[in-house]
Amino acid sequence: PISPNGDAQDGIRVLCRIRPMNDDELAMGADEAIEVSGNTVALTVTSYTADETGTLRRSRDLRRDGRTYPFKFHHVFRPTATQHDVYALAGEPLIDDVLEGINGAIIAYGQTGSGKTHTMFGPDGDDPRAAYESLDEYHKGIVPRLMADLFRRVDLASDSYSFDVTASYIEIYMEALCDLLHPDTDGKPWEGAASRPKLEIRQTSENAIWIKGVTQVEVRSAADVFALLRDGNRNRHVAATKMNRTSSRSHAVFVLTVHKSEAVSGEHTMAQLYLVDLAGSEKVSKAKTDGMRLQEAKRINFSLHTLGRVIDALTTHARSKRSSRSTRSSRHIPYRDSQLTRLLSNCFGGNARTSLIVNVSPSDWNSVESLSTLMFGARSSLI
Ligand code: ADP
Ligand code: MG
Repeated sequence: PISPNGDAQDGIRVLCRIRPMNDDELAMGADEAIEVSGNTVALTVTSYTADETGTLRRSRDLRRDGRTYPFKFHHVFRPTATQHDVYALAGEPLIDDVLEGINGAIIAYGQTGSGKTHTMFGPDGDDPRAAYESLDEYHKGIVPRLMADLFRRVDLASDSYSFDVTASYIEIYMEALCDLLHPDTDGKPWEGAASRPKLEIRQTSENAIWIKGVTQVEVRSAADVFALLRDGNRNRHVAATKMNRTSSRSHAVFVLTVHKSEAVSGEHTMAQLYLVDLAGSEKVSKAKTDGMRLQEAKRINFSLHTLGRVIDALTTHARSKRSSRSTRSSRHIPYRDSQLTRLLSNCFGGNARTSLIVNVSPSDWNSVESLSTLMFGARSSLI
């Protein structure tokens, strides 16, 4: 479904972003594992395993070692791509849609350290002290750019329309939803959960998705949004620290709901935009994993795996719709199997526009994880 200008006609656009080598990789002389040519990447796999001290050593995986795998995407961002380049393709196109009542999502996928948060928010984007408004223009990620443009558009149209924009910020950890804008007063968002309404994902009769009990805050400007993100990140940080885990083990989902009414006719549209910084997709090595961590790893892998299965089912669905055999067109899509996919179920297919950004490291050290990330994304790009 790729049109001549590289746009998907509907459904998901999958973009691959390769970050630059980081200082460690440069200092230690890591080798490039990825070559880019147009919309394709070729990954050469070199397997490494960490020994007891954490030092990487070459290991032999005869099935894959030295093999080169090609992948095709709607677009590939090379390490030299700027934040603006990424925003222009993955973010900006969603603004028109949201203002027209079409749902959208931007989802960042990849192993920890691959650049998900950098892409979505900017450097240190999940820092509880992050000041998005004061980030310099060059470094701003998708969300700050999107918010500035969205509210500019809202202000410009405010003569003929009235807008009502609300925001929620939640975290999904081990299949539980946590309201990042409503922690307990003592700052323990997880422990006193009984005193809060339990968050549940519901579907309305019009097939809209809403989270029962979640805090919805009215926002009138990008600055309002940034203040919420900062509060939410602070709560997320506290929650993770209390539980002795890192926030990279949970999914962060920022939801913006935009109601628009025409002043004269009263004609009304509503759309939601989901901005998702997923948990790290890396496999957690069993050797250094206690019981809790293993449970956690299983749940995280499960929800990312379910996201993959949903995409798989949609892909097959789209393919069978195009081919003359429509026998599988009513194929079951397992949205309900995980909280993440239930929440995102209105962002795939028909009346939605979603960008999935798969983030990878350029170096051979990470090539085994990069292979699994690229395989995940390549499947999505067939939708
Ligand atoms: P993740 O959220 O996937 O764990 P981060 O976004 O935190 O990864 O990125 C890890 C580090 O690499 C951060 O210091 C980040 O600023 C840096 N980084 C990631 N992508 C880029 C990029 N495209 N350009 C420059 N630095 C980057
Ligand atoms: Mg991150």
